[in-house]
Amino acid sequence: MKNLKLASREQNKRTIVNVGGVEVGRGLVVIAGPCSVESETQTLETAHAVKAAGADMMRGGAFKPRTSPYAFQGLGLEGLKILEKAREETSLPIVTEVIDPRDVSWVAEFADVLQIGTRNMQNFALLKEVGKSGRPVLLKRGMYSTLEEWLNCAEYVLSEGNPDVILCERGIRTFEKYTRNTLDLSAVPAIKELTHLPIIIDPTHSTGRLSLIAPMSGAAVAAGADGLIIEVHNKPEEALCDADQALTPEMFSGIMSQVRPLKAFLEGRGSVVS
Ligand code: PEP
Ligand code: MN
Repeated sequence: MKNLKLASREQNKRTIVNVGGVEVGRGLVVIAGPCSVESETQTLETAHAVKAAGADMMRGGAFKPRTSPYAFQGLGLEGLKILEKAREETSLPIVTEVIDPRDVSWVAEFADVLQIGTRNMQNFALLKEVGKSGRPVLLKRGMYSTLEEWLNCAEYVLSEGNPDVILCERGIRTFEKYTRNTLDLSAVPAIKELTHLPIIIDPTHSTGRLSLIAPMSGAAVAAGADGLIIEVHNKPEEALCDADQALTPEMFSGIMSQVRPLKAFLEGRGSVVS
């Protein structure tokens, strides 16, 4: 991958992204929370629940890139204020999506990590803006993108002077319809060969099926992923966005009790990837 200068594995030591003391790239970092921020009660209850289950960071969208313009688009500023409250109460760092370059500077005042969603992976104006934001960036893989295209997008952020990029594989489009997307787990060891940046897995959007989230979380850890990002809702049946794939706090807790020991076991035996 000739175009890669800063993202390339060569010459560069593995990057550890420090988010308020949470180190992405060391051990297993778990980010959890609702698809979208819907209300203060929903967000705070979910935040406390994921914290109790052992999550390291809280997720929640205030700006939602929806397929339909008539679907819930997120609470915007009000949502960010609710997330701020969740951080105050739980001390979990906040991961939230930004979808418009014009919003980056002020959203960065609320977010600990700025998420770039799959639909915006190649929004170069947005990438340049988050590159200047001074905040770590969670860069999701475009659902139609190759690893090379993805890493070139990371290069956009890095080349603006922001070294803190976390990659996230969230499934790609294939002919398969049973799952929402196809989780490309080979991306984990491949990305480790190609770049020094950490990579986490989103078993929620990649499968879109509750029954597959736990097994694919375990598989992601076995493949060497640096973390997971999982959707959890205090009352999944009432979720305004991605209700079918939201775990209850109890289900999430069950996954946590499997993935942490699995990671510890693999680390004890020497990592599966270097
Ligand atoms: C999300 O994380 O809520 C989201 C919209 O994800 P993606 O961009 O991967 O679809
Ligand atoms: Mn979602």
